Amino acid sequence: MPSLVQIKSKRRLELDTSVKSSGIQLQPGMNICQTDLPIDWYQEDFKPYVEEYLALPDRTPETVLPWMDRYVVPALDHFGPKLMLLAHYYMGGEIVKLVERYGGRIADSYELALQADKRPEVEIFVESAVHFMAETIAILKHPHQQVYITNPKSGCTMEALAKEDMVLPLFDELHDRYGQDLMVICYMNTSGRLKALAGRTGGAVCTSSNAKAIMEWAVQQGKKIFFVPDQHLGRNSGRKVGIGDDETFLFGGGWEGANTRLSSLSAAERTRLDHSRLLLWGSFCGVHTVFSTWQVQHWQAQGYKVLVHPECTVDVVEAADGAGSTKYLWNALQQAKPGDKLAIGTEGHFVRNARDYGKQHGVTVVNLADVPGATMGCGCATMSRNDPPHLVAMLDLLRQGKAPALNRVEAGDAVDEVTGHRERLDEQSRADIAREARTALETMIRLTEAAGL
Ligand code: SF4
Repeated sequence: MPSLVQIKSKRRLELDTSVKSSGIQLQPGMNICQTDLPIDWYQEDFKPYVEEYLALPDRTPETVLPWMDRYVVPALDHFGPKLMLLAHYYMGGEIVKLVERYGGRIADSYELALQADKRPEVEIFVESAVHFMAETIAILKHPHQQVYITNPKSGCTMEALAKEDMVLPLFDELHDRYGQDLMVICYMNTSGRLKALAGRTGGAVCTSSNAKAIMEWAVQQGKKIFFVPDQHLGRNSGRKVGIGDDETFLFGGGWEGANTRLSSLSAAERTRLDHSRLLLWGSFCGVHTVFSTWQVQHWQAQGYKVLVHPECTVDVVEAADGAGSTKYLWNALQQAKPGDKLAIGTEGHFVRNARDYGKQHGVTVVNLADVPGATMGCGCATMSRNDPPHLVAMLDLLRQGKAPALNRVEAGDAVDEVTGHRERLDEQSRADIAREARTALETMIRLTEAAGL
């Protein structure tokens, strides 16, 4: 009989290195959460946990962690490897540090989306980030898996300016005009319903890390591209594949885009629309559009390397020393050498975490917007609506078998970020959305892997 060592050596193991530790550390005495929302904003079931949290004497790890441990550790013991905690790098309130402390994973939206497929042993994903990220996991999940979000009201302002009801009227007009020549490319920051629209037109989803590769592929198909929702990522990616401003047509975002009728465009505008290869929905991220070229020049003049996210405006991206996704920015930080100086233009909590990480490794990190007289850089307020009491309540209620139905995420769900009301589609419509959105997501994954990204 072969020894156990021999048996083990014959096992085929696949090492998943897609999600690495962020390297962010909890420090004694640090402030754990700055986002204590009014108690009225929490779900009823969550309020008892919030009351306990608000009654804690301070927010240091020494105080908050023992309180969290009381609820989180029994839940982790109860579910074991069947439960996985996930969070995005933009989470504020040190939640990324807490999620990692409890064995969870921090990733960008692309890596988060892959987790259901990569972790078939996991039956319950608990996500602390925005709704479209949780919904994407729900679209790609296996039938035996469930996805929960710690705060369903955690939305994305860019996505909020590109709801299905806003985009579909314009899409219908464009489709009437261009038919099969029109392809939708959806940024990850969209609802599953719009990702399904991309799938229906033979298009794909993209993230900031693969947008160029997806755009290149779309151009090769010889299609007219309708890029939704971020005008800046669309324009920046279009430029990278040779689509200039003269071949790009910008619509309004939100209700402005929704109310645009092609018949109301001037003849010259319609001619330009016909000649454009890239049509942009006019949404944007308020967090990423506060940066200006003079801030870039300010830090470059002081010897800083400026790195920005491609949701920034095109002039900022072109003035910077580098631009790329959240993963690109974090990798650049981890590869920086002691003495390096980085000015980073992206979401504020990310930059703050980067600054803390840099301090531990001799790298100076500043927020690109931290220039006297500038508009301050800011964090993603909606993502930060997932705080320690949300995580604690979600896990404790799950352990008790009392998880609120509202927190369970399914393909096609639409949540009103203000009221928290959720619109869930019937089973057949959910299945249709999941199938079509999955097609668009799988195209993205195939192209991303083929490009070695
Ligand atoms: S940072 Fe901007 S684009 Fe990203 S989730 Fe927040 S609001 Fe949306």
